Amino acid sequence: MHPFTYTRVSDTREALDAGRSGGRYIAGGTTLVDLMRETVERPGTLVDISFLPLREVTVTRRGGLRIGALVRMAEAAAHPKVRALHPVVSEALELSASAQLRNMATVGGNIMQRTRCTYFRDVTAACNKREPGSGCAALHGFNRTHAILGTSDHCVATHPSDVAVAFAALEAGVHLLGPDGERTVPFADFLLEPGSTPQREQAIRHGELITAVEIPAHPRPLKSGYLKVRDRQSYEFALTSAAVALHIRGGVIREAKVAAGGVGTVPWKLPAVERALIGERPSASLWAEAAGHAAEGARALTHNRFKTELLKRTVERQLRIVGGGK
Ligand code: SF4
Repeated sequence: MHPFTYTRVSDTREALDAGRSGGRYIAGGTTLVDLMRETVERPGTLVDISFLPLREVTVTRRGGLRIGALVRMAEAAAHPKVRALHPVVSEALELSASAQLRNMATVGGNIMQRTRCTYFRDVTAACNKREPGSGCAALHGFNRTHAILGTSDHCVATHPSDVAVAFAALEAGVHLLGPDGERTVPFADFLLEPGSTPQREQAIRHGELITAVEIPAHPRPLKSGYLKVRDRQSYEFALTSAAVALHIRGGVIREAKVAAGGVGTVPWKLPAVERALIGERPSASLWAEAAGHAAEGARALTHNRFKTELLKRTVERQLRIVGGGK
């Protein structure tokens, strides 16, 4: 591990000053400390923001659900408001990592976590994300767990977060505070596809701090859930996953929000699936037909061709779980 200095801040102004001076924010540290041990990350200064007052879950005046950036994953998963309004968020959190990690890691840190591509973590391998311009060892290496959607010739790594898939489905916003004040970035614009700059992963500016993630109020109550398919039942990342939220009234689907994980370089919203559902009556054939759109645009690699079919089946199964129907 490279030497670094550590400072703890007690208010947001102090944090922003330290961030502007080049400090790297740390809270739960469950990703960053690992990467520092492997010398993938070498921050000169760590700014511990764990004690900032960003640990509340609140329902806003407009009826949105605001989850503070420093709420621990386990706390968010168990929170009565999260469970009641958006079970898909709660389930995605509960299916993430391990109990120990969920007790440490924060919601803000979770969406900022870096890819689990093994080449990214191996400092002897070529990796454009870690070392821009060095190449991508995964393209012609072992790429079974890599992405089939949103890839580029420069990077094919998946985004590892589960809860980010739920946030993408529900069209959440990320609240940021920086030297120039506050702003909110729609979740769809917050995490960036690799393109030719895979080292740039979030639409976050120098020194900015995530203060909260907010799920907007949905005028119609949504029934929702998260399905994760993985090689083993615990402490494993998704091969595929599906976040589904539906509003069904009078036997007709009035609203549909669907996103997939484990397959995209970012959490992958599925608008074609959503369009195929709205205005239709739940049925086994509808779930299969809608899920058939899930892998549109997919570009498989040598070892991950199975993901195309697995993705469709994952989405179909979760539509059936949430939406019922014969
Ligand atoms: Fe690096 Fe991305 Fe290639 Fe993995 S897939 S080796 S993270 S450039």
